[in-house]
Amino acid sequence: MLMALIFHGMGDGVWKIIKTVSDMYEIDLERFKRRKPFELLVSVILSQRTSRENVRKAMERFTRRFRSVEDVANARLREIEVAIKPAGIWKTKAARIKKIARQLVKLKGGLNSILKMPYPEARKILSSMDGVGPKTADVFLMAARNEPVLPIDTHIFRIMRRLGVADEGDDYESLRLKLERETPPAMRMKAHLALIEFGRNICRARNPRCSQCPLAEICPSRRKHSNL
Ligand code: SF4
Repeated sequence: MLMALIFHGMGDGVWKIIKTVSDMYEIDLERFKRRKPFELLVSVILSQRTSRENVRKAMERFTRRFRSVEDVANARLREIEVAIKPAGIWKTKAARIKKIARQLVKLKGGLNSILKMPYPEARKILSSMDGVGPKTADVFLMAARNEPVLPIDTHIFRIMRRLGVADEGDDYESLRLKLERETPPAMRMKAHLALIEFGRNICRARNPRCSQCPLAEICPSRRKHSNL
């Protein structure tokens, strides 16, 4: 069935893949509402190149120490470094967070004013900040105001490459647009989060669990891992 969809229409096949993975996981889509926008931005920055558990520990320490963006802007760099240490690359991340906090306190309306802007404008301003590229901006906007984007992280890139959806010419933007074209806006946040779960648990970077994968019958990379 899936095989037929892949070969008779790539678009339908892409959606079928995304739907299959989305249906595999219960995802708490309300979790972002429990954080203030600045905390969300910090957690997205902290999540670069580290595990979810490390981000959780760092955020616990960070929110215990800092109550507002002004607090962070006025803090000594060392204090921020100590607070976020569990997230790794803490010197670089702390410097970025402090710089962003200082930019935000100078901006009329702060981060909330960015959140009121149309997507292209909000994304452009966020992406111009140190350490915030288009992916970080997209994840933040998705989490903070439910922007209907489908950000592509390393897990999603790997999964889509293995399944033949992403090709060598694809970059962040082209793959994002490819997946968004086939995914209803209301399903994009869940798809993003479910694909990451799938990448962590099934289509892992090393030793993917192809024998447990519901996409194995249509996956061109399956044979390479057929001994698993
Ligand atoms: S069959 Fe294996 S390589 Fe293909 S998507 Fe599933 S886990 Fe990934």
